[in-house]
Amino acid sequence: MSSCCDGDERELGRKTAPGACPDCGGKVEAVDLESRCRFCCIPIGFVIKRKYFCSLCSKRLRLY
Ligand SMILES: [Zn+2]
Repeated sequence: MSSCCDGDERELGRKTAPGACPDCGGKVEAVDLESRCRFCCIPIGFVIKRKYFCSLCSKRLRLY
């Protein structure tokens, strides 16, 4: 789960995703994040990551 791309993250947007939270059954939100990617402390660009959160309990979700 950890990578070289765990630097600063900036939220680009969020939208409702299909599925439901396994804990509370709440709606899933997909959040697009722009992450600064570094290799040995040298910035090599930006990557867009999508993370999923429950909109009710804010739990971080893993969807595949
Ligand atoms: Zn939940």
